[in-house]
Amino acid sequence: MKADELLKYQPFSLEEEEKQVLFKEAIAETLVGHYEGNELFRQYCVKNGFDPRNGISSLGDIPYIPIQLYKKCSFLTVKEEEIVDIRKSSSTSTGMPSVVHRDAITMERYRISRNMIFDDFIDDRNKTHICIGEDPEFNKGASRNLINSLIAERSGSAETYYLIKDKEDKFKVDLDMFLGLLEEARQKDKPVGLIFGGTAIIYLFLIKPLLERGVKLDYSGYIAHGGGWKKLQDQQVSKEIFNRDLRNVLNCPESHIVDMYGFAEANSMFIDCEAGYKHVPVWNEVIIRDPLNMKPVEKGERGIVQILDALPHSYAGASLLTDDIGYISTEKHCPCGRKGSAFKVLRRALGSEAKGCGDMMVDKMK
Ligand SMILES: [Zn+2]
Repeated sequence: MKADELLKYQPFSLEEEEKQVLFKEAIAETLVGHYEGNELFRQYCVKNGFDPRNGISSLGDIPYIPIQLYKKCSFLTVKEEEIVDIRKSSSTSTGMPSVVHRDAITMERYRISRNMIFDDFIDDRNKTHICIGEDPEFNKGASRNLINSLIAERSGSAETYYLIKDKEDKFKVDLDMFLGLLEEARQKDKPVGLIFGGTAIIYLFLIKPLLERGVKLDYSGYIAHGGGWKKLQDQQVSKEIFNRDLRNVLNCPESHIVDMYGFAEANSMFIDCEAGYKHVPVWNEVIIRDPLNMKPVEKGERGIVQILDALPHSYAGASLLTDDIGYISTEKHCPCGRKGSAFKVLRRALGSEAKGCGDMMVDKMK
């Protein structure tokens, strides 16, 4: 299938014009699969006057499904017996988790996609990993543990250590174990390659307490964090403060602090380069929509972030409307050298705006 052909390219190797042609073909094929195999999605397309079998002239024509809808509907395209992995995202303020069903095809694409993107930013293979999270074995159905176990596999011949031991201990990170692991790695001359986990957990339960203890380390590996800034923004911790405090404690290069943006339904993640842009791989595209009229806006203009994904085979997640506000870079070439589109996320859309949009779509679905 064309989506698998896209995965043969390096994620950031194509100029926009070249990529657009290949991407349109691939996402059209993916959408036709959902249109023909998924009654709910087909009705949704019909209501929006869209038929992917006619080809796609503009990516902006593709109907989008607000992420909130995945909490209410199952957009399953294949038979249930084909599903090999079911993940629930952590329930948000609404109390309802998203449920994402992946078949073997989608799982394989997920693994290839995320590993290739990771390889492009982080040098962590066969090095010791420290996860500021729970062992994925404890909560197998949690969405975060899908990415955690994928990252952990990258430690290969080395070890992955989990610093949150069980669910009861959810918000206690074993700081002594953390310091012990780094010291042991130093003595054995087998440096830790990656520390990873949730953005807020890394900050509030690792970095902040170490900062308060006056700990200063000499860590040269990477730190990969994701899961959003909401909790930290509530505490007035900006990305600048986060990075500054991390560097104060770990003494690592800023370029080794890796911000991963993604969500349960996505098969890729979008990582900030040193210029602060989230790069879009060959198999994804990003559209920004005006929150008032929902029309696509020009590069550089702010609006709601929509993610197109050529990879989902088992669920209709090829066009997702997030509840984030952002804009696409106007620069033809990013200073980091990666090709293709890149975007920035500014903040979550205001609750009312996001909800309004989601509710509007839910009503449309009914
Ligand atoms: Zn860049």
